[in-house]
Amino acid sequence: MKTIKTYQVTQSQGILLNANECGENLPLTVREEIAQAALDLAYNRYPDDECKELLNAYAKVMNLSTEQLIAGNGSDELLGLLISVLAANKSVLTLDPDFSMYDYYASVHQAELLKFQHDLHRPFDLDAFIQMGKKADLILFSNPNNPSGIALSAADLCQLVEAAAPIPVIIDEAYAEFNDESMIDKLAVYENLILTRTLSKAYGLAGLRVGFAISNPAMIQRLKAAKVPYNVNSFSQRAASIVLKHDEIFAPRTAQIIHEREKMLAACQSLKHFTVYPSKANFIYFRSKRKAVFMSLLDDIKIRDYSDDGFRITIGSPDQNERIISLLKQADKEIL
Ligand code: PMP
Repeated sequence: MKTIKTYQVTQSQGILLNANECGENLPLTVREEIAQAALDLAYNRYPDDECKELLNAYAKVMNLSTEQLIAGNGSDELLGLLISVLAANKSVLTLDPDFSMYDYYASVHQAELLKFQHDLHRPFDLDAFIQMGKKADLILFSNPNNPSGIALSAADLCQLVEAAAPIPVIIDEAYAEFNDESMIDKLAVYENLILTRTLSKAYGLAGLRVGFAISNPAMIQRLKAAKVPYNVNSFSQRAASIVLKHDEIFAPRTAQIIHEREKMLAACQSLKHFTVYPSKANFIYFRSKRKAVFMSLLDDIKIRDYSDDGFRITIGSPDQNERIISLLKQADKEIL
């Protein structure tokens, strides 16, 4: 029996720029509407197993049909379900670096996790990745990538999905709203394409735990047959459906985060001792031998620290981002 690779959950206090959450709560008017709706829920009854209201609301926003969708307790749950259905006791190809929950689910389902080294200083070697994919039973990676923020182009992804067929390719699009491309409109073209999405990031609903897998109806049926019953609770279904009705709130919020990200990326270009990677997500990844100096200046700001010289910072409010830039500049100048 292999040991399970646990995921380190951090519940922090202070200025939280560590988990790529949305910095703002929902507008009060939307929270009031949710509170009102919460009065009428049948708390004594199990939730709708099919998540009909939620799937309808998401299908409408995304211009999809409900047969292409399954909802989960966060996209995390669906990533685990996908690995269990498509790769238990088999092999999964992913990237290094990539989202650490893939390691966890692969180990839970006794899948061998193959990692393609993505040298972040060179253009992505698509051909080599495609070749390695031929040895796997499933391909799974995030795009934009967590932690690097780097996004492969839709053209490259199409080439990969086509070359991999019939091997399923799961593209984890947790941060797709912050990117200028997505593979959503390619679902009709590729039978072996599966996408995962979440309401935890651009929609600012990390506390509700709602995510989706999107694929062709036959694949979605396979997933539905294998999921645990009642996996999304009644409150989250109702609240997320209400939030999705107010979809217009999120476009300007997302645009603001992208604007702040670009400002930060530009400001970081002058750093000599910090390597900054070109992000298409709501965070920026850095590597530096001066990480410890920078970390010592952070005070109440929490960021995501990796075991090597890498660290990742979620885009925050304009003030928070200014503070981060000035601390990076300070660490950059410090005479060691
Ligand atoms: N995929 C990636 C790449 C992520 O970074 C995250 C959250 N950290 C998730 C999936 C999980 O998101 P959710 O909250 O929907 O479970």
